Amino acid sequence: MASHVVIIGSGIVGAASALELLRDGHRVTIVEPGEPGGEQAASYGNGTLLNPSSVIPMSSPGLWKKVPGYLADPLGPLTIRWSYLPRLLPWLWRFLKAGSTADKVAATARALQPLLAESPALHRRLAEEAGVPELMSRHGVLFVFPTRADFEADSLSWRLRRENGTTWLELDDDELRQREPALDRRYRFGLLVEENGQCRDPGAYVAALVRHAVDQGAKMRRTRATGFRIEAGRLRAVTTAQGDIGCDKAVIAAGARSRDLAAAAGDRVSLETERGYHVVIKDPGIELRYPMMPSDGKMAFAMTREGLRVGGQVELAGLEAAANWKRAEILLKFARTAYPGLPADLPPERVKVWMGHRPSTPDGLPCIGPAIGCADIIHAFGHGHVGLTAGPKTGKLVAEIVGGRTPSVDLRPYAASRFA
Ligand SMILES: Cc1cc2nc3c(=O)[nH]c(=O)nc-3n(C[C@H](O)[C@H](O)[C@H](O)COP(=O)(O)OP(=O)(O)OC[C@H]3O[C@@H](n4cnc5c(N)ncnc54)[C@H](O)[C@@H]3O)c2cc1C
Repeated sequence: MASHVVIIGSGIVGAASALELLRDGHRVTIVEPGEPGGEQAASYGNGTLLNPSSVIPMSSPGLWKKVPGYLADPLGPLTIRWSYLPRLLPWLWRFLKAGSTADKVAATARALQPLLAESPALHRRLAEEAGVPELMSRHGVLFVFPTRADFEADSLSWRLRRENGTTWLELDDDELRQREPALDRRYRFGLLVEENGQCRDPGAYVAALVRHAVDQGAKMRRTRATGFRIEAGRLRAVTTAQGDIGCDKAVIAAGARSRDLAAAAGDRVSLETERGYHVVIKDPGIELRYPMMPSDGKMAFAMTREGLRVGGQVELAGLEAAANWKRAEILLKFARTAYPGLPADLPPERVKVWMGHRPSTPDGLPCIGPAIGCADIIHAFGHGHVGLTAGPKTGKLVAEIVGGRTPSVDLRPYAASRFA
């Protein structure tokens, strides 16, 4: 039976959900205060990678030992702002516990796999439907290491990737050089994961998906959702800053700002923002043949339509604190060491910086599924580091739930009730 579904948020998760719901014949209204695909969304500024191989959560065994360092170094790849620590503690505790054993990490990897596995193909299909197939590419992603020993030191991650279907080509020093001449010579070992893909302009892509949804009949409401009107256990309306929108179902896809909406639907979820940064270097003067992730820097490099984008960093400081642009400088500095051909002096107009909010649960798994307080409200948030990749499959699951079909993936690992 066709429903009127209000989708809250138009990042990649909201946009993909809208298209899947329209495909099933539902009436769709998208509520979004910003520009779809705009800079307010994590979906705009991410690392652009569509990696089925990204099944490894951030938390890993022994990470707790590094927490004092994270607090001491405000410019490290993962930092915690002292002033935010008291509010962060419950999330941080769950985060450290979630990765405390190899078995726990393996269970998370298994649960992420079905959300990521078909991602490049699903994105290609959406991009073709929306008329922007040129934004998708699939040449694989390079993972580079100073030595083979550095790769072997990370054996747990790569074993779990292999167990979850990732395959790769090993590249020795010479092969790496031939594949990617611009790369610094300190990297002497590489892996090419050929199945991984890339979106060359995620903001423009999300905007195109939303435009396509509107062309298919979706209504756009440029306002902020504030909660729900629920009567006798059934959803009657989504409340917004500009009044109620009557509906049968709602999807919470508000990214890092989903926690209060989930609470209004009866679920107290553990959701934080892992703030990330990017730098885009226009006309970088070098050409990358592959997107690249270096083992000695927690970041991703990729050519985009605007230039070379370097994205990364994790800063635990909440939604409201001002950006620390020194973190973007770190990305730029590292980029010069990874690709020595980058110009030493770049005029400010050729460097663009951005900060955004990953929507992160402590266990690295999203919340997908009906809310406890009202099954007409569907959670679709908390995708952390892999939301661009997992967006299309999440959209399909949302449509399956709304349509009352048996979900094609076991939803239990994503239940919001795990935080109760
Ligand atoms: C630096 C960085 C690098 C990354 N790299 C990658 C990568 O390479 N690959 C990958 O897969 N993922 C990556 N990610 C993660 C990915 O970007 C996110 O997981 C994903 O974009 C989340 O999508 P979303 O739709 O849930 O949220 P968002 O894209 O944040 O969209 C949420 C939308 O909801 C709107 N909203 C908020 N509150 C309300 C409200 N009350 N009412 C209505 N609308 C509201 C917002 O305005 C926003 O537009 C990266 C993230 C960062 C920060």
